[in-house]
Amino acid sequence: MAQDSRPVVLDVKDLKTYFYTRRGIAKAVDGVSFQLHQGETLGLVGESACGKSVTALSVIRLVPQPSGRIVGGEMIFQGEDLLQKPERDMRNIRGKQIAMILQDPMTSLDPVFTIGDQVGEPIRFHQPENRKNIMERVVEMLRAVKIPAPEIRVREYPHQMSGGMRQRIVAAMAISCTPQLLIADEPTTSLDVTIQAQLLKLLNELKTQSKLAMLIITHDFGIVARVCDRVAVMYAGRIVETADVRTIFKSPLHPYTQALIGSVPKVGARVERLFSIEGQPPDVRAIPPGCPFAPRCSQAMDICREKYPETTVVGDGHLVNCWLMDKKN
Ligand code: SF4
Repeated sequence: MAQDSRPVVLDVKDLKTYFYTRRGIAKAVDGVSFQLHQGETLGLVGESACGKSVTALSVIRLVPQPSGRIVGGEMIFQGEDLLQKPERDMRNIRGKQIAMILQDPMTSLDPVFTIGDQVGEPIRFHQPENRKNIMERVVEMLRAVKIPAPEIRVREYPHQMSGGMRQRIVAAMAISCTPQLLIADEPTTSLDVTIQAQLLKLLNELKTQSKLAMLIITHDFGIVARVCDRVAVMYAGRIVETADVRTIFKSPLHPYTQALIGSVPKVGARVERLFSIEGQPPDVRAIPPGCPFAPRCSQAMDICREKYPETTVVGDGHLVNCWLMDKKN
């Protein structure tokens, strides 16, 4: 894949987010770097607790307090480092320039306020206008996310909507102030397959229409295949492989990526047992020296248990952290 010439919206460099607990320091994100271009969707993929959600929360500076702290790195958004911004500026950026869709639409919506009030809230906060104009804008947003009869729905409450409609309303809230970056954390987890497909189609449409940069947090390679342009695979707080979607599916190089893709069931394939990755991810409070995947890796060598592998560039935009790359060169 040729070098992406679109403007870089977000440039994350060596991000470190730690949690200071009584039982030690949990290095949830430990030196993560990636770039996101205008109109591009990057999937951050990995098993539970690999650091992908904490990476997303770090970008909007909403790391759980008081134990969580961003201890290092840079996050250049539209040319400015988000880590240097005072909280007052971040409040203006959240919702307006960077928006987020969380996994559970029910927890993102307040049961006592109407849909109109809730979708209109970010507009009221960031672009104060009179109530009539705000409601017109809300109706427009609901129409954009394909909510039927939006003029009626604005006066209704979350419990009057189906799960799929609630998730689309959350998407309408997220895009109401036309952000440049949309972060979606496991956006389809609580949805059935049909609604999942509708939401993924909507995300693709939003990306094309508004040239949105999107960061999708997921453990599901099916979602990656349908909405992402590029993928960054995370393990134990670090990115271990980055490539465009085609390359990741066609020739994954890191044994962890290969195992993740190998564990996705294939349509039409008859197998006795589904493949699963043996063992558990390491405790991020006590990551052993070397490659953290070594205890689960069938190709581990002596050096893997001693030193963390350097990043190897194996192709255009294809980066891998694995000692096997040294053997190939
Ligand atoms: Fe396996 Fe070694 Fe590569 Fe880690 S560095 S994934 S242990 S081969």
